[in-house]
Amino acid sequence: MAIQTTADQGFIRKFNTAIILDLLRRFAPLSRAELAARAGLNRSTVSIIINNLIEEGFIQETDLQSSKVGRPGMLLTLNPNGGFAVGVEIGVDFISVILTDFIANVLWRERVFSNPEDDQIHILDCASELTQKAIDIGVEQGLRPLGIGIGVPGLVDLKQGKLVFAPNLRWTNVPLRLMWSQRFDLPIFIENEANAAALGEYYFGVARGKDNFIYLSAGIGLGGGIIIDGKLFRGSSGYAGEIGHMTIDPDGELCGCGKRGCWETKVGPRAVLQHVRNILVEGTPSLINELSEGHLDGITFNNVVDAAKLADSVAVDALKDVGKYLGIGVVNLINIFNPELIVLGGALSLAHEFLLPVIENTVKESSLKPPCEHIEFRASGHGSDACVMGAVALVLDDILREPMFLQRAP
Ligand SMILES: [Zn+2]
Repeated sequence: MAIQTTADQGFIRKFNTAIILDLLRRFAPLSRAELAARAGLNRSTVSIIINNLIEEGFIQETDLQSSKVGRPGMLLTLNPNGGFAVGVEIGVDFISVILTDFIANVLWRERVFSNPEDDQIHILDCASELTQKAIDIGVEQGLRPLGIGIGVPGLVDLKQGKLVFAPNLRWTNVPLRLMWSQRFDLPIFIENEANAAALGEYYFGVARGKDNFIYLSAGIGLGGGIIIDGKLFRGSSGYAGEIGHMTIDPDGELCGCGKRGCWETKVGPRAVLQHVRNILVEGTPSLINELSEGHLDGITFNNVVDAAKLADSVAVDALKDVGKYLGIGVVNLINIFNPELIVLGGALSLAHEFLLPVIENTVKESSLKPPCEHIEFRASGHGSDACVMGAVALVLDDILREPMFLQRAP
């Protein structure tokens, strides 16, 4: 029976194409027959879609033979040369840019320090120069540009592609997508850094195959990326995941957001350093004194982690204290979202071997039993690349879920 209208037909083809691409992303290599069975589509429909995708260069046939008994067949995978994506992170004090192919193999990267006191225009110019460099390299390699993803440390209005508020940069209402689309004629995606990082872990990191998990981005601030049923949970306006501002102690320390006792005042590297300084100022012996050459103000989070690895009790205790508070917040998240995995990312993930066991214990002691029976705790697989890989995932996610290129097909 003929499909009613061209619009319907186009929608169904896009929908089915997205299913095929997603199956190949997750389970490739697959044969045509396996794809048809997994997608619940008939072989002829799948063949038409596959031929189109091969023609467009997004998937390829491999010379691997099917391992199954019976007639061997060509297997299909995503084509690394299907195009390139540029991932950008505008951090509080750095800019990071990464260039990847269609299956997120890193082709080029650069990270430069920036000064949050610098003019906003200067920082954005520097980021767009690096982006241009990445695009030039991708084009030189004969690949087509697919898009640019940008992760930023603040609240993002997704509809307008606008950075609404970045407290640590003190930026408000920056129309990033508009500004960058004047320079780059490509799809541009703006996202909060923790959300982007969560997507990166889901696509290419430790959360592959986990459809319900929470990514904690614990650095200067504490952000969260929440994946529910395989999709980023953004809330009604895109501001979901501001977990660092959950009130843990109403009489606590003043937070950067202007409120008291937010979770992030208890758990960031700043809280670790404060804890350490309070102990050392009393003259307690510690390796941290040697590592920081005796300068209390010069102690870095890395000094504390290094000392903890050498079993220094001041360092280990400071991390345990932060781990306990991290655990208390995580208990709240588990009770609300019932995730299967918690991923610890950001600067604190450097100390994951000390923090994760404490978080796990706190959760076991304080959470309702059923939601945490099968929960896992892991450190980010991408470390400091979590956000840029997530920014790349934004570009690929858009193509895989919404294959707009089909608009060009007759
Ligand atoms: Zn706050």
